[in-house]
Amino acid sequence: MSVVFDPDRILEKVLPKKADDLLTSDLKFRDKFKQNLLRLDFLTKGDINKGIAKSLQFYNRKIKDLKAQGESAAEAKAQAINGGALLKARLSDLVVEKASEDIKEKFTGKQYIWLPSSAEDPDPVHALNYGKTFIVGEGEQPGERYGCRCAMEILGVNTFDEEVPDIMRVNPDKVKAQLETGKARAQEAAKARVADIEARIKEADANIKDIEAREAQAKQAEAQKALDFETKTKELFNKASNKIDLNKPNDVFFGNAIDEKESAKLKVKTGLILEGYKRRITIGGVRHSFKQHGDTSYEESRGQKAVEAKDLTLIPEITKNYDDVVLSEKKNFDGRSVFVYKKKINGLLYFYLELIGGKTSKGLESKDLWIKKIKK
Ligand SMILES: [Zn+2]
Repeated sequence: MSVVFDPDRILEKVLPKKADDLLTSDLKFRDKFKQNLLRLDFLTKGDINKGIAKSLQFYNRKIKDLKAQGESAAEAKAQAINGGALLKARLSDLVVEKASEDIKEKFTGKQYIWLPSSAEDPDPVHALNYGKTFIVGEGEQPGERYGCRCAMEILGVNTFDEEVPDIMRVNPDKVKAQLETGKARAQEAAKARVADIEARIKEADANIKDIEAREAQAKQAEAQKALDFETKTKELFNKASNKIDLNKPNDVFFGNAIDEKESAKLKVKTGLILEGYKRRITIGGVRHSFKQHGDTSYEESRGQKAVEAKDLTLIPEITKNYDDVVLSEKKNFDGRSVFVYKKKINGLLYFYLELIGGKTSKGLESKDLWIKKIKK
Protein backbone atom coordinates (compact mmCIF):
# COMPACT_ATOMS: atom_id res chain seq x y z
CA MET A 1 0.00 0.00 0.00
CA SER A 2 1.11 3.54 -0.68
CA VAL A 3 0.58 6.43 1.72
CA VAL A 4 -1.18 9.25 -0.10
CA PHE A 5 -2.51 12.61 0.93
CA ASP A 6 -5.17 13.49 -1.64
CA PRO A 7 -7.42 16.51 -0.89
CA ASP A 8 -10.10 15.34 -3.33
CA ARG A 9 -10.34 11.96 -1.61
CA ILE A 10 -10.95 13.66 1.74
CA LEU A 11 -13.44 16.17 0.35
CA GLU A 12 -15.38 13.46 -1.44
CA LYS A 13 -15.79 11.62 1.84
CA VAL A 14 -17.04 14.51 3.95
CA LEU A 15 -18.90 16.90 1.64
CA PRO A 16 -21.83 16.22 -0.74
CA LYS A 17 -21.36 16.10 -4.52
CA LYS A 18 -24.10 18.64 -5.04
CA ALA A 19 -23.24 21.85 -3.22
CA ASP A 20 -26.86 22.77 -2.36
CA ASP A 21 -27.25 19.55 -0.38
CA LEU A 22 -25.22 21.28 2.33
CA LEU A 23 -28.21 23.39 3.35
CA THR A 24 -31.77 22.62 4.41
CA SER A 25 -34.65 24.47 2.78
CA ASP A 26 -34.67 26.97 5.64
CA LEU A 27 -30.95 27.63 5.19
CA LYS A 28 -29.58 25.55 8.06
CA PHE A 29 -26.36 23.63 7.66
CA ARG A 30 -27.16 19.92 7.43
CA ASP A 31 -26.12 18.12 10.57
CA LYS A 32 -24.91 15.06 8.64
CA PHE A 33 -22.11 17.06 6.99
CA LYS A 34 -21.22 18.85 10.19
CA GLN A 35 -20.72 15.44 11.84
CA ASN A 36 -18.52 14.38 8.88
CA LEU A 37 -16.34 17.43 9.31
CA LEU A 38 -16.10 16.93 13.07
CA ARG A 39 -14.70 13.45 12.48
CA LEU A 40 -11.62 14.94 10.78
CA ASP A 41 -9.06 15.09 13.57
CA PHE A 42 -7.12 18.00 12.06
CA LEU A 43 -10.16 20.31 12.18
CA THR A 44 -11.36 21.84 15.43
CA LYS A 45 -15.00 22.42 16.19
CA GLY A 46 -14.22 26.14 16.28
CA ASP A 47 -12.74 26.10 12.73
CA ILE A 48 -15.84 24.36 11.39
CA ASN A 49 -18.37 26.57 13.16
CA LYS A 50 -16.54 29.72 12.06
CA GLY A 51 -16.39 28.55 8.41
CA ILE A 52 -20.11 27.73 8.36
CA ALA A 53 -21.18 30.87 10.21
CA LYS A 54 -19.23 33.15 7.87
CA SER A 55 -20.85 31.66 4.78
CA LEU A 56 -24.35 31.71 6.25
CA GLN A 57 -23.83 35.36 7.19
CA PHE A 58 -22.84 36.09 3.62
CA TYR A 59 -25.96 34.36 2.27
CA ASN A 60 -28.30 36.19 4.65
CA ARG A 61 -26.80 39.56 3.80
CA LYS A 62 -27.14 38.85 0.11
CA ILE A 63 -30.78 37.78 0.47
CA LYS A 64 -31.52 40.98 2.38
CA ASP A 65 -29.88 43.10 -0.36
CA LEU A 66 -31.77 41.33 -3.13
CA LYS A 67 -35.08 41.74 -1.32
CA ALA A 68 -34.32 45.43 -0.86
CA GLN A 69 -33.82 45.61 -4.62
CA GLY A 70 -37.33 44.26 -5.05
CA GLU A 71 -36.78 40.52 -5.59
CA SER A 72 -39.33 38.11 -4.12
CA ALA A 73 -38.26 36.14 -1.05
CA ALA A 74 -38.01 32.89 -3.01
CA GLU A 75 -36.10 34.49 -5.89
CA ALA A 76 -33.71 36.27 -3.51
CA LYS A 77 -32.99 33.01 -1.70
CA ALA A 78 -32.38 31.11 -4.96
CA GLN A 79 -30.06 33.76 -6.34
CA ALA A 80 -28.12 34.25 -3.13
CA ILE A 81 -27.47 30.61 -2.51
CA ASN A 82 -26.80 29.86 -6.15
CA GLY A 83 -26.33 26.15 -5.54
CA GLY A 84 -24.45 26.60 -2.28
CA ALA A 85 -21.27 26.74 -4.32
CA LEU A 86 -19.66 29.40 -2.15
CA LEU A 87 -20.24 27.49 1.06
CA LYS A 88 -18.82 24.29 -0.38
CA ALA A 89 -15.80 26.06 -1.87
CA ARG A 90 -15.09 27.80 1.43
CA LEU A 91 -15.36 24.63 3.47
CA SER A 92 -13.27 22.70 0.93
CA ASP A 93 -10.48 25.26 1.17
CA LEU A 94 -10.65 25.16 4.95
CA VAL A 95 -10.44 21.34 5.00
CA VAL A 96 -7.53 21.21 2.51
CA GLU A 97 -5.56 23.97 4.22
CA LYS A 98 -5.84 22.35 7.64
CA ALA A 99 -5.18 18.85 6.25
CA SER A 100 -2.04 20.09 4.52
CA GLU A 101 -0.82 21.70 7.75
CA ASP A 102 -1.48 18.45 9.56
CA ILE A 103 0.52 16.44 6.97
CA LYS A 104 3.41 18.85 7.36
CA GLU A 105 3.44 18.35 11.11
CA LYS A 106 3.12 14.57 11.02
CA PHE A 107 5.55 13.80 8.22
CA THR A 108 8.04 16.62 8.21
CA GLY A 109 11.45 15.56 6.81
CA LYS A 110 9.98 12.65 4.82
CA GLN A 111 10.34 12.48 1.07
CA TYR A 112 7.20 12.69 -1.06
CA ILE A 113 6.24 12.51 -4.73
CA TRP A 114 4.09 15.38 -6.00
CA LEU A 115 0.89 13.96 -7.54
CA PRO A 116 -1.47 15.66 -10.00
CA SER A 117 -4.53 17.61 -9.17
CA SER A 118 -7.84 16.39 -10.54
CA ALA A 119 -8.73 19.95 -11.59
CA GLU A 120 -9.84 20.28 -15.19
CA ASP A 121 -7.46 23.16 -15.79
CA PRO A 122 -4.52 22.32 -13.52
CA ASP A 123 -2.12 24.98 -12.28
CA PRO A 124 0.65 24.92 -14.92
CA VAL A 125 3.35 25.70 -12.35
CA HIS A 126 2.28 22.81 -10.12
CA ALA A 127 2.09 20.58 -13.21
CA LEU A 128 5.86 20.96 -13.54
CA ASN A 129 6.18 19.19 -10.17
CA TYR A 130 4.15 16.10 -11.09
CA GLY A 131 6.13 12.93 -10.37
CA LYS A 132 9.09 14.76 -8.83
CA THR A 133 10.38 14.08 -5.33
CA PHE A 134 10.40 16.72 -2.58
CA ILE A 135 10.76 16.82 1.19
CA VAL A 136 7.83 17.56 3.52
CA GLY A 137 8.37 20.88 5.25
CA GLU A 138 10.69 22.29 2.58
CA GLY A 139 9.23 24.72 0.06
CA GLU A 140 5.65 24.88 -1.18
CA GLN A 141 3.61 21.75 -0.75
CA PRO A 142 0.34 20.49 -2.32
CA GLY A 143 -2.77 21.99 -0.78
CA GLU A 144 -1.09 25.13 0.49
CA ARG A 145 -1.96 27.44 -2.30
CA TYR A 146 -5.58 28.64 -2.40
CA GLY A 147 -7.65 26.24 -4.51
CA CYS A 148 -4.81 23.73 -5.01
CA ARG A 149 -5.97 20.11 -5.08
CA CYS A 150 -2.65 18.48 -5.87
CA ALA A 151 -1.84 15.31 -3.93
CA MET A 152 1.30 13.75 -2.47
CA GLU A 153 2.59 10.21 -2.02
CA ILE A 154 4.60 10.14 1.18
CA LEU A 155 7.60 7.83 1.07
CA GLY A 156 9.35 5.89 3.82
CA VAL A 157 6.27 5.57 6.02
CA ASN A 158 4.96 2.25 7.29
CA THR A 159 1.43 1.85 5.96
CA PHE A 160 0.36 0.39 9.27
CA ASP A 161 1.75 3.28 11.26
CA GLU A 162 -1.03 4.60 13.50
CA GLU A 163 -0.29 8.12 12.23
CA VAL A 164 -1.69 7.00 8.87
CA PRO A 165 -5.48 7.20 8.68
CA ASP A 166 -7.39 4.76 6.50
CA ILE A 167 -8.16 7.33 3.88
CA MET A 168 -4.42 7.70 3.14
CA ARG A 169 -3.89 4.01 2.34
CA VAL A 170 -4.07 3.69 -1.45
CA ASN A 171 -3.36 0.91 -3.94
CA PRO A 172 -0.02 1.69 -5.73
CA ASP A 173 -1.61 0.99 -9.14
CA LYS A 174 -4.15 3.72 -8.43
CA VAL A 175 -1.35 6.14 -7.57
CA LYS A 176 0.45 5.29 -10.82
CA ALA A 177 -2.75 5.80 -12.81
CA GLN A 178 -3.41 9.15 -11.10
CA LEU A 179 0.09 10.33 -12.06
CA GLU A 180 -0.30 9.24 -15.70
CA THR A 181 -3.76 10.78 -16.14
CA GLY A 182 -2.70 14.02 -14.45
CA LYS A 183 0.39 14.37 -16.62
CA ALA A 184 -1.60 13.76 -19.79
CA ARG A 185 -4.25 16.28 -18.74
CA ALA A 186 -1.63 18.93 -17.91
CA GLN A 187 -0.02 18.35 -21.31
CA GLU A 188 -3.35 18.79 -23.06
CA ALA A 189 -3.99 21.99 -21.11
CA ALA A 190 -0.51 23.30 -21.98
CA LYS A 191 -1.05 22.52 -25.67
CA ALA A 192 -4.39 24.32 -25.60
CA ARG A 193 -2.78 27.36 -23.98
CA VAL A 194 0.02 27.45 -26.57
CA ALA A 195 -2.50 27.09 -29.40
CA ASP A 196 -4.54 29.93 -27.91
CA ILE A 197 -1.48 32.21 -27.66
CA GLU A 198 -0.44 31.34 -31.22
CA ALA A 199 -3.92 32.14 -32.49
CA ARG A 200 -3.86 35.50 -30.71
CA ILE A 201 -0.40 36.36 -32.10
CA LYS A 202 -1.64 35.48 -35.57
CA GLU A 203 -4.66 37.72 -35.13
CA ALA A 204 -2.49 40.60 -33.89
CA ASP A 205 -0.14 40.15 -36.87
CA ALA A 206 -3.05 40.25 -39.28
CA ASN A 207 -4.36 43.42 -37.64
CA ILE A 208 -0.96 45.12 -37.92
CA LYS A 209 -0.67 44.15 -41.59
CA ASP A 210 -4.14 45.50 -42.18
CA ILE A 211 -3.27 48.84 -40.60
CA GLU A 212 0.00 49.04 -42.53
CA ALA A 213 -1.76 48.32 -45.79
CA ARG A 214 -4.35 51.02 -45.14
CA GLU A 215 -1.67 53.54 -44.18
CA ALA A 216 0.33 52.76 -47.32
CA GLN A 217 -2.82 53.14 -49.41
CA ALA A 218 -3.63 56.51 -47.86
CA LYS A 219 -0.07 57.73 -48.40
CA GLN A 220 -0.14 56.64 -52.02
CA ALA A 221 -3.48 58.37 -52.60
CA GLU A 222 -2.07 61.53 -51.01
CA ALA A 223 1.04 61.40 -53.23
CA GLN A 224 -1.08 60.78 -56.34
CA LYS A 225 -3.25 63.79 -55.49
CA ALA A 226 -0.20 66.02 -55.14
CA LEU A 227 1.18 64.76 -58.45
CA ASP A 228 -2.16 65.28 -60.23
CA PHE A 229 -2.34 68.80 -58.88
CA GLU A 230 1.14 69.61 -60.14
CA THR A 231 0.52 68.13 -63.58
CA LYS A 232 -2.81 69.89 -64.04
CA THR A 233 -1.52 73.22 -62.76
CA LYS A 234 1.45 73.14 -65.12
CA GLU A 235 -0.92 72.25 -67.95
CA LEU A 236 -3.00 75.32 -67.08
CA PHE A 237 0.10 77.47 -67.17
CA ASN A 238 1.11 76.12 -70.56
CA LYS A 239 -2.36 76.76 -71.95
CA ALA A 240 -2.42 80.27 -70.47
CA SER A 241 0.77 81.09 -72.35
CA ASN A 242 -0.51 79.63 -75.59
CA LYS A 243 -2.86 82.03 -77.34
CA ILE A 244 -3.97 79.61 -80.05
CA ASP A 245 -5.48 77.06 -77.65
CA LEU A 246 -9.18 77.80 -77.56
CA ASN A 247 -10.25 74.89 -75.40
CA LYS A 248 -11.01 76.07 -71.94
CA PRO A 249 -9.30 73.63 -69.58
CA ASN A 250 -10.98 72.48 -66.39
CA ASP A 251 -10.36 74.29 -63.13
CA VAL A 252 -7.92 72.57 -60.81
CA PHE A 253 -9.41 72.00 -57.38
CA PHE A 254 -7.07 71.49 -54.44
CA GLY A 255 -7.17 70.93 -50.69
CA ASN A 256 -10.20 70.04 -48.60
CA ALA A 257 -13.28 72.24 -48.22
CA ILE A 258 -12.74 74.88 -45.53
CA ASP A 259 -13.65 73.45 -42.14
CA GLU A 260 -14.91 75.14 -39.00
CA LYS A 261 -11.41 75.74 -37.62
CA GLU A 262 -9.97 77.28 -40.78
CA SER A 263 -13.11 79.37 -41.24
CA ALA A 264 -12.78 80.80 -37.72
CA LYS A 265 -9.15 81.72 -38.43
CA LEU A 266 -10.08 83.46 -41.70
CA LYS A 267 -12.94 85.28 -40.01
CA VAL A 268 -10.59 86.90 -37.51
CA LYS A 269 -8.46 88.23 -40.39
CA THR A 270 -11.13 89.09 -42.96
CA GLY A 271 -14.53 89.15 -41.24
CA LEU A 272 -15.95 86.58 -43.68
CA ILE A 273 -17.37 83.17 -42.80
CA LEU A 274 -16.39 80.68 -45.48
CA GLU A 275 -17.03 77.25 -44.03
CA GLY A 276 -17.59 74.68 -46.79
CA TYR A 277 -15.91 76.80 -49.48
CA LYS A 278 -13.56 74.99 -51.86
CA ARG A 279 -10.45 76.42 -53.56
CA ARG A 280 -9.50 76.12 -57.19
CA ILE A 281 -7.14 77.48 -59.81
CA THR A 282 -8.77 78.68 -63.02
CA ILE A 283 -7.37 79.37 -66.47
CA GLY A 284 -8.59 82.96 -66.06
CA GLY A 285 -6.52 83.48 -62.94
CA VAL A 286 -3.46 81.89 -64.44
CA ARG A 287 -3.78 83.83 -67.70
CA HIS A 288 -4.07 87.07 -65.74
CA SER A 289 -0.99 86.25 -63.69
CA PHE A 290 0.97 85.20 -66.76
CA LYS A 291 0.02 88.33 -68.72
CA GLN A 292 0.75 90.76 -65.90
CA HIS A 293 3.67 89.04 -64.25
CA GLY A 294 5.11 86.53 -66.75
CA ASP A 295 7.70 88.71 -68.48
CA THR A 296 11.13 88.17 -66.95
CA SER A 297 12.86 91.43 -67.84
CA TYR A 298 9.90 93.60 -66.94
CA GLU A 299 9.38 91.85 -63.58
CA GLU A 300 13.11 92.08 -62.81
CA SER A 301 13.06 95.81 -63.57
CA ARG A 302 10.49 96.36 -60.79
CA GLY A 303 12.10 94.11 -58.20
CA GLN A 304 9.87 91.15 -58.92
CA LYS A 305 10.32 87.63 -60.23
CA ALA A 306 8.44 86.40 -63.27
CA VAL A 307 5.71 83.82 -62.48
CA GLU A 308 6.57 80.32 -63.62
CA ALA A 309 4.54 77.09 -63.63
CA LYS A 310 6.33 75.86 -60.50
CA ASP A 311 5.21 78.99 -58.61
CA LEU A 312 1.57 78.06 -59.23
CA THR A 313 2.13 74.77 -57.49
CA LEU A 314 2.85 76.72 -54.28
CA ILE A 315 -0.70 78.07 -54.12
CA PRO A 316 -1.95 75.32 -51.75
CA GLU A 317 0.91 76.11 -49.35
CA ILE A 318 0.32 79.88 -49.60
CA THR A 319 -3.40 79.60 -48.84
CA LYS A 320 -2.96 77.02 -46.10
CA ASN A 321 0.03 78.43 -44.24
CA TYR A 322 -0.09 82.11 -45.11
CA ASP A 323 1.93 84.71 -43.17
CA ASP A 324 -0.98 87.10 -43.56
CA VAL A 325 -4.33 87.40 -45.31
CA VAL A 326 -6.51 90.48 -45.67
CA LEU A 327 -9.72 91.45 -47.39
CA SER A 328 -8.73 93.74 -50.28
CA GLU A 329 -10.26 97.23 -50.28
CA LYS A 330 -10.75 96.89 -54.02
CA LYS A 331 -13.47 94.55 -55.23
CA ASN A 332 -13.33 92.57 -58.44
CA PHE A 333 -15.04 94.20 -61.49
CA ASP A 334 -18.06 91.91 -60.98
CA GLY A 335 -18.42 92.89 -57.33
CA ARG A 336 -16.83 89.82 -55.80
CA SER A 337 -14.62 90.33 -52.75
CA VAL A 338 -10.93 89.55 -52.96
CA PHE A 339 -8.50 88.05 -50.45
CA VAL A 340 -4.81 88.96 -50.53
CA TYR A 341 -2.51 86.29 -49.11
CA LYS A 342 1.14 86.94 -48.32
CA LYS A 343 3.71 84.24 -47.78
CA LYS A 344 7.49 84.23 -47.69
CA ILE A 345 9.09 81.24 -49.38
CA ASN A 346 12.83 80.89 -50.12
CA GLY A 347 13.68 84.61 -50.05
CA LEU A 348 10.63 85.56 -52.16
CA LEU A 349 7.39 87.19 -51.06
CA TYR A 350 4.33 85.68 -52.77
CA PHE A 351 1.14 87.68 -53.22
CA TYR A 352 -1.86 85.58 -54.09
CA LEU A 353 -5.27 87.06 -54.90
CA GLU A 354 -8.36 84.94 -54.46
CA LEU A 355 -11.94 85.67 -55.53
CA ILE A 356 -14.70 84.93 -53.02
CA GLY A 357 -17.71 83.27 -54.68
CA GLY A 358 -21.33 83.42 -53.53
CA LYS A 359 -23.04 81.26 -50.93
CA THR A 360 -24.39 78.93 -53.60
CA SER A 361 -21.18 78.18 -55.48
CA LYS A 362 -18.99 78.37 -52.36
CA GLY A 363 -15.95 78.78 -54.62
CA LEU A 364 -12.62 80.42 -53.94
CA GLU A 365 -10.94 81.11 -57.31
CA SER A 366 -7.46 82.19 -58.27
CA LYS A 367 -7.33 85.79 -59.49
CA ASP A 368 -3.68 86.69 -59.61
CA LEU A 369 -0.22 85.77 -58.37
CA TRP A 370 2.92 87.88 -58.27
CA ILE A 371 6.25 87.52 -56.59
CA LYS A 372 8.32 90.21 -54.94
CA LYS A 373 12.01 89.84 -54.31
CA ILE A 374 12.88 90.59 -50.71
CA LYS A 375 15.62 93.24 -50.38
CA LYS A 376 18.51 92.26 -48.21
ZN1 LIG B 1 -1.69 22.25 -7.11
